[in-house]
Amino acid sequence: MTNLNPSVVREKFIESVQKSKILAKRCNDCSTIRIATVLYCENCHGRKYKLIEYPGIGYVNTFTIHTVPPEGFEDVDGYAWVVFTLDDVSIRASGFLPGIKKPADLPIGSKVKVNGFDVKHGLVLKKL
Ligand SMILES: [Zn+2]
Repeated sequence: MTNLNPSVVREKFIESVQKSKILAKRCNDCSTIRIATVLYCENCHGRKYKLIEYPGIGYVNTFTIHTVPPEGFEDVDGYAWVVFTLDDVSIRASGFLPGIKKPADLPIGSKVKVNGFDVKHGLVLKKL
C-alpha cells in the first residue's frame, strides 16, 4: 500500500486507535518508521511506505497538566497532555489523559495505553 490519500490514512489511523493500536508507516526507501499521520518520511522525504499496526502501549516522555477541561470533557477533573513513546517501536505520539491533577499523579516513564479517539482532541489515553 503506497501513496494513499491522507484522509484515508487518517481514517485508518482512527480505526486502529479505536482498537487501542497505533498505525505507523515504514518508509520503502530507508525503513524509517513514523506515525501514520505524518505525510512523508522525515529522514529521506520518501512518500512510499507500508502501513503497520503496533500495540498502543508505551511510556510517558513528558506531559503538561491542565486544570481546565477541554470542550466535551467538562466532567474531567484535570488532565494531562502526554507525549509518549511506544514500547514496540521507537515512535512518539501524544494524547489526552484524564484524571491527572498534579505531576506526582504521572511519574515520567509511567505506562499508558491508547484508549480511544476523540474527534476534537485526538488520542485518549489511560494510565496502566
Ligand atoms: Zn525514508
